[in-house]
Amino acid sequence: MKKELIFLGPPACGKGTQTSKLAEHLNFPHVDTGSLLRAAVKNQTPEGVTAESYMSKGQLVPVEVVAAIIKRRLAEPDCANGYVLDGFPRSVEQAGMLEEINKEVDKEDAEFRAVYFDIDTELLIERIVNRKSCPKCGEIYNMKFKAPKDGVHCDKCNSELTQRKDDTEEIARARFETYYKETAPLTEYYENKGVLRKIDANGSIEQVWERLLKAVND
Ligand code: AMP
Repeated sequence: MKKELIFLGPPACGKGTQTSKLAEHLNFPHVDTGSLLRAAVKNQTPEGVTAESYMSKGQLVPVEVVAAIIKRRLAEPDCANGYVLDGFPRSVEQAGMLEEINKEVDKEDAEFRAVYFDIDTELLIERIVNRKSCPKCGEIYNMKFKAPKDGVHCDKCNSELTQRKDDTEEIARARFETYYKETAPLTEYYENKGVLRKIDANGSIEQVWERLLKAVND
């Protein structure tokens, strides 16, 4: 049966690292709205131009822009058996939109699950301002907690690491505010639907990975 997996949790809770790994493990596409939007901004498409002004303030991009991008992506053939969706939905309104999109795209019954990364939020701003990633392969690093071997280049493909424009302390604080206001209520929304799995997202990448696999398989 098709497996539709979505993930909830505050900025920098480790979702990006874990869900990329999970997508590879399950052989499903990793659909990440933040990356899709950053690509649209880089290419200055009409959607990207609109998105940029919201992203630079740590606010949610208008729902119709994100929903259009996600609808196109989830209709692609590589999503037919399942997908790992990271960063969408981010509000109750978007959750309703995802249900509509799935109805349109799904040809058969699908198993839907929302995994919530439960984490102490104290250290997350520090995680964000020290975060860098590889522009080529997407590998995520942290200059304090998981630095690349030479301090500058990706261990996997040797490209020079870059920092996201919105990974500053000021924008990170705004992103947290947006998260608590718009996205946090989704945990209750999915709990009420009986599809929520909570995992403890504190600890090492390996520890969280084990818990994630359990949550996805049980
Ligand atoms: P992320 O890479 O998931 O941290 O997302 C970076 C930024 O992209 C967010 O702060 C938002 O401005 C925007 N964004 C990503 N996903 C969504 C979404 N589902 N709805 C609205 N805006 C989004």
